Amino acid sequence: MRPNPAHLLDHYKELTAIRDSGIYSNYGPVNTHFEQALTNRLFGGVGGCVTVCNATIGLMLAIREVVGEPVGGERRYALMPAFTFAATAHAALWAGLTPLLCDVDEETWLPCAASEEALLRRFAGRVALLVPYATFGNNLDLDRYERLSRAYDVPVVVDAAASLGSLDEGGRGFGTGCRHAIVYSMHVTKTFATAEGGVIYCADQERLARLRAMGNFGFGGPRTATMAGLNAKLTEIGALLALAKLREFEPLVERRAALAAAYRQLLPEFGFQRAIGRRCAYQFMPALISEAQAMRRAEVIAELDAKGIGVGQYFSPHLFEQPYFRERCVSGDLVVTDRLSRRALSLPIFDGMTREELELVCTAVREQLEVGVGVRRREATKMKQTVL
Ligand SMILES: *Cc1c(COP(=O)(O)O)cnc(C)c1O
Repeated sequence: MRPNPAHLLDHYKELTAIRDSGIYSNYGPVNTHFEQALTNRLFGGVGGCVTVCNATIGLMLAIREVVGEPVGGERRYALMPAFTFAATAHAALWAGLTPLLCDVDEETWLPCAASEEALLRRFAGRVALLVPYATFGNNLDLDRYERLSRAYDVPVVVDAAASLGSLDEGGRGFGTGCRHAIVYSMHVTKTFATAEGGVIYCADQERLARLRAMGNFGFGGPRTATMAGLNAKLTEIGALLALAKLREFEPLVERRAALAAAYRQLLPEFGFQRAIGRRCAYQFMPALISEAQAMRRAEVIAELDAKGIGVGQYFSPHLFEQPYFRERCVSGDLVVTDRLSRRALSLPIFDGMTREELELVCTAVREQLEVGVGVRRREATKMKQTVL
């Protein structure tokens, strides 16, 4: 990754305006401007959003808002995929819930419907919450979660950490119109890069108002806590970074999608996620290598690193492979998760990445994995001819 937040040095006037206003945080004017601009630009003006200092805190707030106070006695579960980032499970544990881990779909890598529903039946009445993750920016079927929520009478909070910039079938920002809280990250490693930051989107204005109050010490009245709370506020400088990113965002997401398409084309031997919806926001290019190649993954990553190519392995280890979670989570069958996790190789995508750089990565990766040795020369010529 080559993080690319907006350059504060280019925003001297706006920085000066913050100093002159004397307002540095507490949902100030820059923050309000950003929330409105984001709702208009990415969600067609439908619903609203509240910023948070990071998506993990955003998940904690959103979960607490729907499940209420932790209670003793019988365990209550938060149903989530094992194929996600640690933050999803941490947020549920902070709310006093036990993460109940389901498997993911072989093709879309989104939470597997059959696995989710099997666990909902097996733990009937004890599942307090559904926390699906929109895997790597892929478009979850939010209508299905609405149906599940009604059928099983459970609330939903969506971890959409990587989804700012993703478009649904209708070309609207992922999440548009959803009455459940959807949590996005603006961490510097995400496509919508700031420094630390996040946003909770929701079409339900009352829920948003509660989340905003919870994010400000649970103050329902002036300096008076009327509900659970913590400090989740984004600074005005954080909001300025977010506003600046929003202005330059669209072409950056488009470019990343084009780079992702090029990876799919140039690495035909690799496995890729089936993308749903009109567009995915790519933080990096998640790919799958073969089981045999996976045995040498650590070595391959080290060799590429030595060549200056940073390659990751999201999400490996998956949640149930991490000691802290293994001791505290309950898991269903994770056959697909285990397989994806073993074979995962995340290839670089960054703003300003050129076609040549992408080809260089592909060549190096194929060399390390010893694929297509015979056809490499022919392929290389072909690659040069394809214009991105
Ligand atoms: C990045 C990420 C988060 C955490 O976001 P922060 O803003 O860094 O707290 C949570 N869940 C998933 C799936 C993520 O990828």
